[in-house]
Amino acid sequence: MSIPVFDLHSHSTRSDGLLSPAEVVERAAQHGVHALALTDHDEVSGLPEARAAAAAAGIRLIPGVEVSVSWHGHTLHIVGLAIDADNATLVEGLRKNRSGRDARAKRIAAQLESLGIAGTYEGARRYASNPELVSRAHFARYLVERGHAKTTQGVFDRYLGAGKPAYVAHEWAELGEALAWIRTAGGLPVIAHPGRYKLDSIEQGALLDEFKALGGAALEVVTSAHTAEQSAYWAKLATRHGLLASAGSDYHGPRESYRDIGDLPPLPSGCTPVWQEF
Ligand code: AMP
Ligand code: MN
Ligand code: MN
Ligand code: MN
Repeated sequence: MSIPVFDLHSHSTRSDGLLSPAEVVERAAQHGVHALALTDHDEVSGLPEARAAAAAAGIRLIPGVEVSVSWHGHTLHIVGLAIDADNATLVEGLRKNRSGRDARAKRIAAQLESLGIAGTYEGARRYASNPELVSRAHFARYLVERGHAKTTQGVFDRYLGAGKPAYVAHEWAELGEALAWIRTAGGLPVIAHPGRYKLDSIEQGALLDEFKALGGAALEVVTSAHTAEQSAYWAKLATRHGLLASAGSDYHGPRESYRDIGDLPPLPSGCTPVWQEF
């Protein structure tokens, strides 16, 4: 028996992925994934379709979500794994988190317009199949279409990334709120792609202490956002703070993601996998 393959971070068209929930699951099955978490941004409406597709494909679906959080001026992403997606507290919290996105999208579009790029609100909306979930990724796709950069990464580097001219600060849920929603729904909170945040080592320590105290369970040690060195670094921090280790591709779609779904190196030795809790 081979070791089961877990991919615990992925996106569908219910947020900013390019494939439908069923297509994400089918692709995961084709790529040898045994257990997949669909973790759309602030949204769980893709899970019923994903669950049915997983049953048909003979793989396990872990119901998940990726919650946007504001923490001391930084935007963090907290993945919730093995959630009860019908839990009223979680559903209401996610609805509240989504509700600010439309006004934010209009502000991003206004910033872009002031830089001489018109029509981006409508353009981004065209790429967003869920009107409640217009993400910067949709703006990035439209700006690539209009020739403002060759790749979506290029759009973030030039316009949409933190500190760039069309970046709009936004207040998401508080860390404690997001953890409470996930825990109340029976889920395991995981700090997504910890190496992506611009935190110094003091702030990293403070975040992990606070996360643990508020009921946090795991760090995403293996993700396409990390180099092997970063995975080793976050594996050590997870162990030091008594946190489990997760692994996920953060797959968004063909040609847009650096790693394909299920294409993940093993967890560094010494980590305790979060899937021991499932
Ligand atoms: P939002 O939730 O609207 O702030 O959008 C965040 C999403 O934008 C992330 O989940 C990624 O899909 C995408 N994104 C963020 N930063 C980058 C980047 N540097 N390059 C490409 N995509 C990015
Ligand atoms: Mn995304
Ligand atoms: Mn993320
Ligand atoms: Mn993600």
